[in-house]
Amino acid sequence: MIGEVRIPRPLWTHLRDALLADCMVETKCFLLCRTLESESRVVFLVREVVPVPDDAYVIRSASLVETRPEFVHSLLVRCAREGYSLLEAHSHPWAGDARFSQIDDNSDYQKFLTTQSMSPPFRHGSLVFGNDMSFEGRFWDYQGGQMAPIARLRALSAPLLTRYGAGFYPPWLHAAEQAVYDRQIRAFGAEGQAILSSLRVALVGAGGLGSQIANALALLGVGQVLLIDPDRLELSNLNRVVGASFAQAQRSWRKVRALAQRLNRARPPETRTITPLPHDARSPHALTHLLGCDLIVGAVDSAVVRQYLNTVAVCALIPYIDAGVGVRSENGKLAQGGGQVQVILPGETACLACIEQGVRQSVEEQLTPHQRALSIRGGYIQGENIPNPQVVFLNGIVGNLLVWELVKLTTACAPVQPYVYYDLLQQQAFPARAERNPECLLCAEHADSMLGQGLYGLAGYLPSVGKPKKRAKPIPPPRGS
Ligand SMILES: [Zn+2]
Repeated sequence: MIGEVRIPRPLWTHLRDALLADCMVETKCFLLCRTLESESRVVFLVREVVPVPDDAYVIRSASLVETRPEFVHSLLVRCAREGYSLLEAHSHPWAGDARFSQIDDNSDYQKFLTTQSMSPPFRHGSLVFGNDMSFEGRFWDYQGGQMAPIARLRALSAPLLTRYGAGFYPPWLHAAEQAVYDRQIRAFGAEGQAILSSLRVALVGAGGLGSQIANALALLGVGQVLLIDPDRLELSNLNRVVGASFAQAQRSWRKVRALAQRLNRARPPETRTITPLPHDARSPHALTHLLGCDLIVGAVDSAVVRQYLNTVAVCALIPYIDAGVGVRSENGKLAQGGGQVQVILPGETACLACIEQGVRQSVEEQLTPHQRALSIRGGYIQGENIPNPQVVFLNGIVGNLLVWELVKLTTACAPVQPYVYYDLLQQQAFPARAERNPECLLCAEHADSMLGQGLYGLAGYLPSVGKPKKRAKPIPPPRGS
C-alpha cells in the first residue's frame, strides 16, 4: 500500500506560507482531504488547509510542537461527521531534508489509535516538511495493519509541481530510452525526458484528432498511454486516422487496437506500453483506468463525454487537457475552421463547466428528438445525420498544440498557456482568456461543489468511494516500545 497527496495550487501556496512563516519554531497545519482508494494505493485529495491558531498550541519550540486536545478533537469530529480524511502536517524548521523523529513516531501511533475509535473511522496520516518543503509522509493502512509511506505529492500548478517523499526518487531513463530520445533530451533535458517517460496518460478519443495526439505522445516516449474509444474503423476514417490501414477499415477493427498496434512498433520493447481500451469513457471499467492516470487528454466530439471527463478531473484532482476542432463549409469553400486547446487544472484554471458554451452544447446533445427538431428549425443548432467536414491538417495542428501544452505542463520547459485558439483561415494560434467562474457547480471553492465533494461527486459510478470498507484491525504497539 502506498499513498499520494494531490493538492490544488492555491492550497499548496497557503500550506507552504503557513508552515514557513516562522522559521525558528515548528508549525502545524491540518489538511482535510477526500480520498481515492484502490487495492494498492490511497490518494489524499486536499480540500482544506487549517493552520493551527497561536492560542491552540500547548508547546511550540524549534524541536517540539503540540496542539490543544480540544482543537484537535473538534477537527476529528468534523472528519467523522463530514467524511473527510485527515493529514497532519508540521515543519522541521532546522532541517533541509524532512524526516520523522522518534517523538513523531510515538505521537503518530497515539493519533492513529484515536481516529480508529471514531465512528466511522477515517484515514489518518502525517506529513513532516523541511524548510525547503521536502517531505516525509505516512498513513495508517487498515488492511496491512501498519503505517504505509506517502510516495508523492503533486500540486496542480502550471507547470505541475511534484515532490517525492523521503526514500522515493524522481523517475530516471533506461539506457534504451537515452538512445531513442537523444534529440529530445537535447531539447528539454534528461530530467524532462524522464518525466515524460514516467507519465501515465489516458487519451479519450482515437479519431482524427486523437490519433494525431496518440502519435505524438508515442514518439515523445510518454511512459504509458491508455487509448480509450469504443468506435470501429470505417472507410470514411481513412482520410484522417493516423496509421489505420485499408484492410483494417474493411474489417471494422477497433480504432484503438489499430492505433496501439502501429504505435508500439516504433518504441523500444520495454516501453511498448500503449494500451487499447475499446470502452465508452463513461463505463465503470474505463473510470477505474482514468482515475489511475496522471493526466487525462480529451479529443472527443461529444460535449457530454467532454463534460464527463471534466467532472472526473475536477473530482479526482487530475489535470485534464481538452481539444476540439471544427470546420464549416459553404458551397465547397471553407467558410470557417479552427480549434482550441484548454488546460484544466482543478482549483487553478477554468474548467469546462466554467465556460457557458460547453454547458450549452452538452444540453443540446441531451434534447429529445422533438426538442432537437424545433431547435434545428429555429437555427439554434446544426442538423444531425449530416457528417461534419474533417480535415487532417487541422487535426494535426490542433493535436500538436495540445501535445505542446502537455510537454510544458509536465516538464516546465516553457510557460503553459491555459487556453489557445487556432484560426485556420487566418493561420494564427492565439491565447484566449478563460476565467474561472466563482459560482461554477463543479470547481467553485466551496464544500458543495464537485471539487469540494471529491469522489463523492462520482459516487454513482463507483462501487465504493472514499471510505474504508470494514472496521479497522487492532493496532500493534509502536516501534521501539
Ligand atoms: Zn468550473
